[in-house]
Amino acid sequence: MIKRKILLEDHEIPEKWYNVIADMPNKPLPPLHPGTLEPIGPDSLAPLFPEALIKQEVTTDKWVDIPDEVRHIYSIWRPTPLYRAYGLEKALDTPAKIYYKYEGVSPSGSHKPNTAIPQAYYNKQEGIKRITTETGAGQWGSALSFACQHFGITCEVYMVRLSYRDKPYRKIMMNTWGAEVYPSPSERTQAGRNILAANPDSPGSLGIAISEAVEMAATREDTKYALGSVLNHVKLHQTIIGLEAIKQLEKAGDMPDIVIAPFGGGSNFAGLSFPFIRLNLEEGKNIRCVASEPASCPKLTRGVFRYDFGDTAGMTPLLPMYTLGHDFIPAPIHAGGLRYHGAGVIVSQLLKDGLIEASAHDNLEIFEAGVLFARAEGVIPAPEANHGIATAIAEAKKCKEEGTSKTILFNLCGHGNFDMKAYEDYFAGKIQQHELSQEEINASIARLETPEINA
Ligand SMILES: *Cc1c(COP(=O)(O)O)cnc(C)c1O
Repeated sequence: MIKRKILLEDHEIPEKWYNVIADMPNKPLPPLHPGTLEPIGPDSLAPLFPEALIKQEVTTDKWVDIPDEVRHIYSIWRPTPLYRAYGLEKALDTPAKIYYKYEGVSPSGSHKPNTAIPQAYYNKQEGIKRITTETGAGQWGSALSFACQHFGITCEVYMVRLSYRDKPYRKIMMNTWGAEVYPSPSERTQAGRNILAANPDSPGSLGIAISEAVEMAATREDTKYALGSVLNHVKLHQTIIGLEAIKQLEKAGDMPDIVIAPFGGGSNFAGLSFPFIRLNLEEGKNIRCVASEPASCPKLTRGVFRYDFGDTAGMTPLLPMYTLGHDFIPAPIHAGGLRYHGAGVIVSQLLKDGLIEASAHDNLEIFEAGVLFARAEGVIPAPEANHGIATAIAEAKKCKEEGTSKTILFNLCGHGNFDMKAYEDYFAGKIQQHELSQEEINASIARLETPEINA
C-alpha cells in the first residue's frame, strides 16, 4: 500500500527549538519607545511576561532547549502527521507532489498549543497563578485554557463580545478546561468600564480585549499576560512544526521546492518555514517559502515596511514591520484569525531581504480551495488554513501548465470543525469577492505618524 501518512516516534520529537535570528544576515531593528523614539530593552516587558520568555524574546542563540516536561505534554498530540496529498494531486491532475503537515490533531484543533504549553510552563516555573489573554474567534483562548489547566494556573480570557455571543462552542471549550471567560468590554477593568460608559452596547474588538487583558496582568502581582502570535518567542516555539516536517520528508526521501503557510501574525508560517530557511542559509538550498494572506488584509503584499504600533490603541512599543497602519480595519469577512494589521518583526525583515515571499488570496477563492481539499483529503480545514491551501493549489496548477514536477509542502494549521457557520455562508452564496482599493490602503498608511525606516 502506498503511504499517505508519514509518522515519527515519540522519541523523535525535537529536543530544541530553532531560532532563525541567529542565521539572519540582517537582524531585526530594535523596538522603539513611542514617546522618546529610543530603542527599548527587554526590561519594559517584565510586568507582562515571565523572565524566561523575555529571554527567549531577545535571544540570539541558534538552538533553545525544549524542557522535558514540555516535550512530555507535546507527546499528547506530537509528533503530528505529515500527509502526502494523493487525493488533492489527483483532483488537480498535477505532476506536482503535495505534502501537508497537519496541526489540527492537537486537543484544541490548531498549532496554537505548541506555544501555549511552554508559555504556561515558564509562568508556572516563576510562581505565576493567573494568566490573562484576549481571544477573537477563540482558537488562542482555547489553546491557552488547555495549557493553563495542565499546570494548575487560572486562565482569564477576554473574548470579543460579538464572538462570545455568536461562537458559543469555543467559549464552552474554554470553560471545559476550567478557564474564566468574560465578554469584552467588561466591567472588570478600567479600559472596559470606559468603553461601556461611552457605548453600553459595544460589540467589542480585539484591540479592546487586549487592553483589558494587559491591564489585569500589569496591575496584579501574581498575574501575567500571554500572546498567541506575532512575538519572537511564539515563533520560536512553533518551529517544532518545521523541524518535525524535515525529519518526516527525509523519511519519505523528499525535500520541498516550495513551503507554504497561512499568515495572520506569522506564528504558524514561522513555525513551518524557519527550519527550511535555515537549510537555505546554511546549506545553500533554494527552497521558496511563501506566506499566504487574505486579500482583504494584505500587509505583506501591499503594506509598507516601517515602525508601527502592535495594537490598535497604540499602547505597545513601536515595532519595525510590514503594516497597513495600526487603525486599519479589515472588512468583516471570514478571514478568521488572519485579520491583524501587521506582521511580526522577524518575518518582516525576512520579506524585506527577499528571503521569503508572500501571496494574497480572495475570500471566495480560499473557500473554493478549502471545499476542494475537504472533498479530496477528508479534513475540513479552518478558514485560515484555506489560504495556504489556495496558494498550494495555485502552485500545483502552475506545475501542470509548465509541465514541471515540483514538491510542495503546506501547513494545515487547524481543522474547521467549529467554523461551520463560515462554510454555511459560503454554500449560501453569502461570501463575496472583496476588492480593497489602493485609496483605502493609502489613507490608512497616511494616518501613521510613526517613524519611517530608511533602508
Ligand atoms: C491563530 C490562527 C492563525 C493565525 O495566526 P498565525 O500566528 O499567523 O499562525 C491561523 N490559523 C489558525 C488555525 C489559527 O488558529
